Amino acid sequence: FNTARFGQHILKNPATAQKYANLKPTDKVMEVGPGTGNLTVKILEKAKHVTAIEMDPRMAAEVIKRVQGTPEQRKLEVVIGDFVKVDMPYFEVCISNTPYQISSPLVFRLLSHRPLFRVAILMFQREFALRLVARPGTALWSRLSANVQLYAKVDNIINVSRNDFRPPPQVESSVIRLVPIDPPPPVKFEEFDGMNRIIFSRPNKTVRGNFQAKGVMKMLEKNRSTWLSLQDMPVDDDRPINTIVDDVLAELGHTENRAAKMDIDDLLKMLAAFHEAGIHFS
Ligand code: SAM
Repeated sequence: FNTARFGQHILKNPATAQKYANLKPTDKVMEVGPGTGNLTVKILEKAKHVTAIEMDPRMAAEVIKRVQGTPEQRKLEVVIGDFVKVDMPYFEVCISNTPYQISSPLVFRLLSHRPLFRVAILMFQREFALRLVARPGTALWSRLSANVQLYAKVDNIINVSRNDFRPPPQVESSVIRLVPIDPPPPVKFEEFDGMNRIIFSRPNKTVRGNFQAKGVMKMLEKNRSTWLSLQDMPVDDDRPINTIVDDVLAELGHTENRAAKMDIDDLLKMLAAFHEAGIHFS
C-alpha cells in the first residue's frame, strides 16, 4: 500500500543509520518507528536482538510479516505503542528515524533512561540536529544544546538530503550520534533546566538582565520558601531575593555575561553557587 498516506518518508538507502551504530553481534537494539522495516532487517543482520516500537499497527504487522519464517524472526520483538508512553526495553543501542514531532521527548527520554545505553543513532530535522550539537558562542547554542550536552556527547555524523527519501519530505535531515556521559553528572535535571530556562530566554541579554525579567524573582522567592520549609531550616539570610541573586552573579563574575557564551562548566558552577545560596529553580 501507499506508505505516504501514513506520513512516512522511507529512506532509499537504509544502510545509513545502521552503519554508524557500529553494531556488535551481542548488541540489543531498540528501534523507534521501524515503519515497513527497511532499516530493521539491516539491524537484524548485525545485532543479537531488536525491540522495535511502532505506533501504527499496520506498520507493525508489516515488519513482523517481513521476518516471518526467516532465522531473524526470533531476534525481533515488535511493541505496538507510542514511544513516548511505553516502557523502554533494556538496550545498548538505539536507532530511530521517527517523525520530527517527537524529537525532543525522544532525546530526553533516552537521556533519563537507566541503565545507560552505549550509543544512539538518530535522524532529525536538520534545524533540530544543529541545535543539539551547537557549541557555546555560536548562534544556535541554546537551552536545548546545554540540556542535552550536560548528559551526552553529540555529533552530527551525516547530512541527509530530502531526495534520499521516498517521497521527499519538506525538510532536510541529519543523522546524530549521541553517547551518554558515564557516569552522568550528579545534577537534578529540573534544576539545571530551570536555570537555563531563565538565562536562555534571551541568550544575548545579560544573565542579570534575564533574572530581572517579569515573574522570575517571584518564582525564586516561592521556590526558596518551599525549599526552606522542606529542609526545616530557619531563614538565616534576610537579604531580599534579588540581592542574593545579584551577589551570586557578582561573585562568579557573571553579572554582565550572556548565556550565549557560557559553556556547560560555567552553567554547572553557576547552578552550584545558587544552590549554595539557597536559590532553587524547581
Ligand atoms: N524507520 C523507517 C525508515 O527509516 O525507513 C521508517 C520511518 S517513518 C519516517 C516513521 C515511523 O515512526 C512510522 O512508521 C510511524 O508510524 C512511526 N511513529 C511515529 N510516531 C511514533 C511514536 N510516537 N512512537 C512509535 N512510533 C512512531
